This record gives sequence, C-alpha cells and structure tokens, in this order.
Amino acid sequence: MKAYHIHVEGIVQGVGFRPFVYRIAHEHNLRGYVKNLGDAGVEIVIEGEESDIEAFLHDLKHKAPPLAKVEKIRKKEMIPQGFDSFYIEKSSQGGSRGDSIIPPDVSICEDCVKELFDPSNKRYMYPFIVCTNCGPRFTIIEDLPYDRINTTMREFEMCEFCESEYKDPLNRRYHAEPVCCPVCGPSYRLYTKEGEEIIGDPIKKTAELIDKGYIVAIKGIGGIHIACDATKEDVVEELRKRILRPQQPFALMAKDLETIESFAVISKAEKEELLSYRKPIVALHKKEPFPLPEALAPGLHTIGVMLPYSGIHHLLFHHSKSPVYVMTSANYPGLPMVKDNDKAFKELKDLVDYLLLHNRKILNRADDSVIRFVDGSRAIIRRSRGFVPLPIDMPFEFTGLAVGAELLNAFGFAKNGRIYSSQYIGNTSKVEVLEFMREAIAHFRKILRIKNLDLIISDLHPLYNTTKLAMEMAENEGVEFLQVQHHYSHIASVMAENKLDEIIGIAVDGVGYGVDDNTWGGEVIYMSYEDVER
Ligand SMILES: [Zn+2]
Ligand SMILES: [Zn+2]
Repeated sequence: MKAYHIHVEGIVQGVGFRPFVYRIAHEHNLRGYVKNLGDAGVEIVIEGEESDIEAFLHDLKHKAPPLAKVEKIRKKEMIPQGFDSFYIEKSSQGGSRGDSIIPPDVSICEDCVKELFDPSNKRYMYPFIVCTNCGPRFTIIEDLPYDRINTTMREFEMCEFCESEYKDPLNRRYHAEPVCCPVCGPSYRLYTKEGEEIIGDPIKKTAELIDKGYIVAIKGIGGIHIACDATKEDVVEELRKRILRPQQPFALMAKDLETIESFAVISKAEKEELLSYRKPIVALHKKEPFPLPEALAPGLHTIGVMLPYSGIHHLLFHHSKSPVYVMTSANYPGLPMVKDNDKAFKELKDLVDYLLLHNRKILNRADDSVIRFVDGSRAIIRRSRGFVPLPIDMPFEFTGLAVGAELLNAFGFAKNGRIYSSQYIGNTSKVEVLEFMREAIAHFRKILRIKNLDLIISDLHPLYNTTKLAMEMAENEGVEFLQVQHHYSHIASVMAENKLDEIIGIAVDGVGYGVDDNTWGGEVIYMSYEDVER
C-alpha cells in the first residue's frame, strides 16, 4: 500500500472539484480525504494500491469538471495513516497567498434548465435553481474559501431537502454552495415603481406586462436590467426617451438561437460564443432587411445579442409571447448599473413602470460582457460577467495595482506572476463611478489577500480622477508611483495577452496624453520588456 499527499492549484474552488475528487477516489478504491485550503488550492491525501493511485492521478488531470482548471499538481509520498474511507474535510482558512482563483459567474446549465421545466421536480419554475456546475459565483462571494458562509447566500438557511442534496456525494448539487429551493431560497417580487407589491405569480405577471408594452426593471445575477419587448417600435422609442440615450445601441436577449437567426447573421464561432458558459453579448451583423425596430441600434450594421443565462430569463421567455427583449443595464448614461433594491426604487422611477426584484444581495456588480468578431478573430470589447476575476499570466512577479485611464475603465492587480483584471467599471469622471471603483479595489484586495503593494500605476494624464486616486493611494501607503503613457499601455496589454516578448504595434485610440505633454493620436510603437520606442 502507498500513500500520497497531493496539492492542486488552479481554478479548483466553486467548480465542483472536491466532489469530483471524492467520486474518482471512490471509483479507484482509495481512502483519505480532500480539503479546500482557502486561497491556497486543494489538498488531497490518498492511500491505496499503486495502480489505483496512478489511475486516480490520470483522472485528476484529464477528467476535471468543465469549469475547473488544474494548473499545478504537486505530489509527495508519505507514510500511510490507515484511513478507512475517503471523505471531504471541512475547509481551512489556508495561507495568505490569495492564489486559488475565484470562479466567475456561470450561466445556468442544461441539466438545471431541464429540471426548471420538469413539473415533477422540486425546483420546477424556481428561478434560483443552480448546481455544482452553474450559477452565480464572483457576484456573491465576499471572501474565501468559497463556502456558503462567505457568500450572500448565507442569509438563506438550507432546508432539509437541499441539505441532503448538498451532503450527498453522488448528487449533482453536492457542495454546490448557492443551492436552494422554493422553501429555503431567495424569491422574486413584482412592484409598481411607487413600491406597491403586485400580488400573483411575479414572473408570469412581468412577462405579461412586457408583452403589453411596459418597461420593467429586472434584477438578475450581476445587477439590474431594464427590459421591454424589442419587437415593438413605440416601446423601444419610449425607452430611448426615458433613459436619455439617443444613439447608444441597446443589447438584446433572445429566447433561443432560432430567434437570433431571424434577425441577425451568426457564424460558427459566434454561435459557440453565444452558447458558451459565459453567455456574453455578441455583436452580430443585422439581417438585411432588419425585421426589428431601427431604434434598437440606430445607424449601425450590428446588434448586440445574448442568450438567457439565468433561470429568471428562461422563465420570462416561457411565459412571454415576445421571443426577444431589450436587456440593457439599468443606469443613466455614465453611471454604474443599479444593483440594490432600495436604490432601484429611487434611481429607476422615471425609467421603468414596474420592478421585478429578488431578495438576494448582489455583492459585486458585473455588467454583461461584450464580444465581437473582427475578420474571424475574437475581440473582447467588455470583459466582465463570466470572465472576472479569472487572471492573465505575465512573465514577471511584482505586487501592484494599475488603475487604468478614464473612460470604459477597468483596473488590474498584479500578484505572483498574474494579472487580475477587474469587472467593467465605467466612466470614472463621475463621482459615483469612482466610488464604485474604490469599493471594487478594496474587494479585490481582500480576496487576493494583498496587504502591501510594490507599485501603483496610473495613466500619464494629470487630470484623470484615476490618476489622482492612484497618487493619493501611493502617498498614503508609501508605495512607488508610476505613470504610463496611454498608448504604451494598450500595446503592453496586447503583449501580455499574447505572451510576446517583443512587439511592433499600432495604437489607434483617439487621444492620449503623451510623454512630451502633447496630445497623442495614433502611434506606431516598438516595445519589449526592456525598451519602448515611438
Ligand atoms: Zn446547473
Ligand atoms: Zn431548500
């Protein structure tokens, strides 16, 4: 008999990794335990026959659940302890490295959709249905380890039924932290904009109101959307008037792929992206003639569309006659998307007629991500829900914060050779957005366990709020402060994303504050990790 201590790093929390380890350990007749190490990965101790252990290690590498990403497996032989079974041990608080990656939010999986519409299922028509492979993650996580107690689901005590599934290693909700049901979980309520609750099935009623041409705020995973029937010209125009966006295109959500094919052209790659677990908005070419109202995306050849990614979306389309909704972030131009119930009543009262809200807190705001294919290549226009907080590797190590520029802002933390890019922040010239940015920076710092920074980086522009914020932080913390030219940053980010050591790039980004204090336009830039030349 042999025994091994195994340490696994990567995306191994909140993705069904421990139950997976439990299952394969049982399949190969091994004993021992698996344990979450908080921010330091997963620890496994196994005992058994050498050949069984080999088969286990093979499965560990090659059969991990869809969202898990095993990055490093370290194995050390040890003296057998004589375990009589294999079990999942309670999480420990772990080290202080903050390297165990927090999973992003994952769209509802096919198994859960099936159960959602199965009348014999306990979670029939229950919008918060989730399992080990799907559901909210980043938006509800307050701290690590990723256990229910560290998420906004801790306010909902599991009922006996959910607990029995949560504790059953053979159940597909084994250790699914946000597991809940109509008895124990969150629920939706429908209100008038004055705050009066409307009695009856809130989701069915909402679908009926949207069919009738009303504009409704709908709270989802990463924030609140404003929804209306996208097939009705007058309704879309009314929404444009109320939301003070005369030109900006509205994102759509369509019931299914066939619906999208009726008004847009989809390539194979775009189809894959639409169906991916991230369910981003994909900018697609409009069909000519475009059968939907021109006011959805005036003067543009493209239209941004996504598929339902949560139980609530599937239920709304189930009850609705319209197969396609406007699904735009609930905010006035330039302000952060509204995510809290009390703010929704205050800030959306002139925008919507009704509000469909649930009682689970959204801790981290995450806008819908936006993808566009340019000549067949995938470009991420907005990297947010479904991506964040997954890191990007870089070839050197320091602990730092880069605050970004002003418009379409996202910041990034660097730690242990990785860059953790934030969710979409927005236009930081607005105080409200800057406030959101401060909160998001504090949260990232907490979950990444970053106490001391080596470096804080801002844009070269002296008047950006982000530059001022970075200077203030650098001064308060006594940290080195560095300003980087805007177009240099763009080229450097392309270098990092594509793992290049050297690059000649063209930055065509309109205006950027130059190193000579002049405004720069488009630049051809040579760059390596040592040098940069314009
Ligand atoms: Zn699921
Ligand atoms: Zn329950």
